[in-house]
Amino acid sequence: MLTVTHIAVSLLLIQLLSLDRNNAFIAMVFGVFIDLDHLIGLGSYAQANGLRPLADWSTLTNPGGQWKSLFHSPMALGAVVPMSFATVMAVPLVFWAVHVSMDYAEETFLGNFSSIEAMLLVLCSFALVVIRYSKYIESYSLGSLGDYIMCEFKGLRSMFGSSNKNAL
Ligand SMILES: [Zn+2]
Repeated sequence: MLTVTHIAVSLLLIQLLSLDRNNAFIAMVFGVFIDLDHLIGLGSYAQANGLRPLADWSTLTNPGGQWKSLFHSPMALGAVVPMSFATVMAVPLVFWAVHVSMDYAEETFLGNFSSIEAMLLVLCSFALVVIRYSKYIESYSLGSLGDYIMCEFKGLRSMFGSSNKNAL
């Protein structure tokens, strides 16, 4: 599935499981960033087939998985399971399984960015905002929706800066 769908689902699960910052980072690695293996797969594919297919949109967006390598195969369990013992709630295994299941559903039933995926993206994003906003209201009962949005932007900015005091 699209990276943005994986991000929305993973962020929602992080909120539902109330993961702390460190576990949320691990969750994002296994729920979203394992797609970086597409770059490795893309390199091998280009070596085998030349660069011409890479200019073809339907080849690039084929959900058949030719870009996917180690992290999308059952062999990844050899790394994911041992890492899961070191975390609460088996975070690597849970988020890896969700990611691979979403990709499997896309390849097997849904196809590229189907209406079901679009619905999943919208619903997860909406649920995420509702949960985050209600947590914000709990902390700052007088805060408006505009204040909440500013708070989220400050939190995002602090993730890339040195200070994270404003993050929820
Ligand atoms: Zn994937």
